[in-house]
Amino acid sequence: MTDSTPQLVYFFGLGRADGTAAMKDVLGGKGAGLAEMTNLGIPVPPGFTIPTSLCIAYLESHQFPPRLRSQVEHALQRMETATGRVFGGTARPLLVSVRSGAALSMPGMMETILNLGLNDTTVAGLATESGNPAFAWDSYRRFVQMFGSVVFDVPKHHFERLLEERKSARSVGRDSDLPVEDFQGLVHDFKALIRHETGKPFPDQPTDQLWGAIAAVFESWNTRRAIDYRKLHDIPDTLGTAVNVVTMVFGNMGDDSGTGVAFTRNPSTGEHQLYGEYLLNAQGEDVVSGARTPEPISTLNDRMPEAYSELERVCRTLERHFRDVQDVEFTIERRKLYLLQTRRAQRSGHAAVRISCEMVEEGLISEEEAVARIPPHDLDQLLHPTIDPAAKLDLLTSGLPASPGAASGAVVFDADRAEEQGRRGEPVILVRRETSPEDFHGMVAAKAILTARGGMTSHAAVVARGMGKPCVAGAQDLSVEEGSQRFSVNGRMVAQGEWITVDGSTGRVFAGRAGLKPPAIGGHFDKLLSWADRFRHLRVRVNADTPADAHKGRDFGAEGIGLCRTEHMFGTVGDPRLPIFRQVILAAPQARAAQLALIDAEKEASEARGKAKRAAEETVKEAKAALKSPEVRPYFEGLKKLLTGQRRDFESIFKAMDGLPVTIRLLDPPLHEFLPSSKELELAMATPTLKASKDVLREFGGKRGTEKVLREVLALEENNPMLGLRGCRLGILYPDIYRTQVQAIIEAACNVKKRGGDPHVEIMVPLVATREELTAVAADVREVAEQVLGQRKMELPYLVGTMIELPRAALAADEIAEDADFFSFGTNDLTQTAFGFSRDDVEGKFLARYLEEKILPMNPFESLDERGVGDLVLTACQKGRKTKEDLKLGICGEHGGDPSSVHFFHNAGLDYVSCSPYRVPLARLAAAQAVLGEAETASK
Ligand code: PEP
Ligand code: MG
Repeated sequence: MTDSTPQLVYFFGLGRADGTAAMKDVLGGKGAGLAEMTNLGIPVPPGFTIPTSLCIAYLESHQFPPRLRSQVEHALQRMETATGRVFGGTARPLLVSVRSGAALSMPGMMETILNLGLNDTTVAGLATESGNPAFAWDSYRRFVQMFGSVVFDVPKHHFERLLEERKSARSVGRDSDLPVEDFQGLVHDFKALIRHETGKPFPDQPTDQLWGAIAAVFESWNTRRAIDYRKLHDIPDTLGTAVNVVTMVFGNMGDDSGTGVAFTRNPSTGEHQLYGEYLLNAQGEDVVSGARTPEPISTLNDRMPEAYSELERVCRTLERHFRDVQDVEFTIERRKLYLLQTRRAQRSGHAAVRISCEMVEEGLISEEEAVARIPPHDLDQLLHPTIDPAAKLDLLTSGLPASPGAASGAVVFDADRAEEQGRRGEPVILVRRETSPEDFHGMVAAKAILTARGGMTSHAAVVARGMGKPCVAGAQDLSVEEGSQRFSVNGRMVAQGEWITVDGSTGRVFAGRAGLKPPAIGGHFDKLLSWADRFRHLRVRVNADTPADAHKGRDFGAEGIGLCRTEHMFGTVGDPRLPIFRQVILAAPQARAAQLALIDAEKEASEARGKAKRAAEETVKEAKAALKSPEVRPYFEGLKKLLTGQRRDFESIFKAMDGLPVTIRLLDPPLHEFLPSSKELELAMATPTLKASKDVLREFGGKRGTEKVLREVLALEENNPMLGLRGCRLGILYPDIYRTQVQAIIEAACNVKKRGGDPHVEIMVPLVATREELTAVAADVREVAEQVLGQRKMELPYLVGTMIELPRAALAADEIAEDADFFSFGTNDLTQTAFGFSRDDVEGKFLARYLEEKILPMNPFESLDERGVGDLVLTACQKGRKTKEDLKLGICGEHGGDPSSVHFFHNAGLDYVSCSPYRVPLARLAAAQAVLGEAETASK
């Protein structure tokens, strides 16, 4: 190769490699790992890697670059030298595996072909060399089978059927129990099958086999499951896979050989102990497919102590070198250990947290690294529900605790159905004999996964752990009859649609739906988050409407309430406060009219003279009487009752958040949300004998009363309620509602303070678009607050601020800031109004299409749209702080708990984010990672 020839092949072997671990982008994870292990002196069979960039080029042109052939030939010669074997040789043939490997791990999503290089001549060489013709021919039939399905696309089950026929004719259970003649027969049958299905002969020349396999591995980048996996994990389609061609070593050479996978620590619990599984006399695919149940790694110590301690030593070296837990694939060929892969181990959230903390204690990593390493969503898994210990349980069976957490759902047996029902929001449990990559989309949709076969490293277990879903694997008593859509277990039958509960932490499976309990946290979780708290600048608050949520948020480390939505304090269906608030709403227009009439009359009376004055005074009297009329009285009585209730609510919330800020938002939703719909009222009048109708008629004073309510409801109905009479617009039209709320807030704070508490009050006005709106409402708020404090003769600092949740407010933030002590971004409404999306409509109707067609890169209601909505946030921050340098800035939309959005808010210079209680820990971690990420960028 001259200097100007691009390197298309990276060799590893003979103690030296062309690549290193740092070249993941070029060599893929597997290729980089093999290169690094070779450089570390770890026993790796020689081989070479064709880089990822060639995959994309091949998929576009379906041609290999001109110099690739010569470079591959050269690398094969080096492999021959390193092994003393010959590719296509009659004696000591060189056989290879051809494996995929992208820069980011996509376990099981792409293809692998083993034993390549076998044909009718080389198989004889292998038989002589091994002294085991059955092994040689079994290897050959495996190769033809894999090649047939991967390169020629012949469905796997055709091969399996032929294999099963041979096994049942001999009455044997395991493939390896077949005699050599059957393997020879199978090779013949498989080749005939391929010719029959494709019209093409099986290639006997090893070099033809190799080029066919390389092309097929590149093509497997674009299988449906690989594309689905990339979509779920945000892996760009442009990365491509590398191809690794590696000298075969055989784990199926007899009982002094074997193959397995090992983790340097337990990936489920994080326990610091070699963990894994292996099978004697087997090839790698037997372990991961779950077709045979593997044995725990610890028993390898009894069978082959030298190989086991060599494996322990290699694992220790790898973990120290990579400073992280590794997941390795190994093969023992006649007692000699070889490593075939090392990669960063996927792990459960529990394990991730424990491992990071323990590695800090061991001095392997720093606290910063520990915090930076945990994907915030991993914490979700620690917050997973567990089965309520008090629940009455009906145990069906148990299997391996493959991925922690508990879930209940309806049983389904196929991935498509799981996807379909999952999309409708129905909780389902996917039950399979064993899963394969084809089931991936169903696993995504399911709440949990249950399999009858397979171990802790089976496909089901690995994928479920990666997704943080509960999984019980290898429940051996389970007999799954996928065809008849039921399973039987210990003499009981469970049909599709029946509910079960899966506990992935204990491996137990129960009939029916069990009560679930929120998880207990502490220990490593608290330690890691306390480190995160030291690094972060953003404060984290909780969105809490009730004392229970406030306590939960505090337990999770919230530093105040960023949003207390007060709407539920006005009552929900079945709540005694709801009829009271309905009274208020229905009487509000008349009450407001009477109030305004009185104001006008009093003004006139004060200005008039003589006879006119007497007449005006008479009008004042009448207006005062109108305020006490039977139509208006319920309004004031209702408000008084609501005042008492709300004061009690606020007292509990201030107590729960003693010493911390509490932002209370004044009433926001449109009033019709509290009223029955016009349809409901019409139905009640049309069918007065129905039970539901009777209740409605009773509440509204019979038919006449209901008719009147119907008229009022119709008058309140709006075409676009979310853009209609809501938020501060209510405060302006019906000021008594906000005034009552403010009175309740300040009185509650005074009461709590009097009893020695320390309430920090922040009153927030929703849906402000113009400065004038805020000026009007804030004046009312301050007037009432000062009145209460004056009456109580108390001093209490309080803030009055506004939500910024309309584009106009963001653009006019400099003016609005003049009347605001703080801004809190309502990114839910800001997203709706910036995009012109009604969230319920778009999420229910077409958002999925938009995401599929990549018209939107992500759901903007989950992750902040930085380009548009983010720009509005930045504009408002800059303008707001230009008016008031110390303006307090926060965010209380759902994006406050989304890790990537938290990074954005950190960069925008906000003071705090606020999110629902269970997302508080994620936000604390993400806020720290935003700072650590900055430090890392600065040091580069
Ligand atoms: C928001 O709009 O972001 C917000 C927090 O308010 P809500 O979701 O209650 O409309
Ligand atoms: Mg809002």
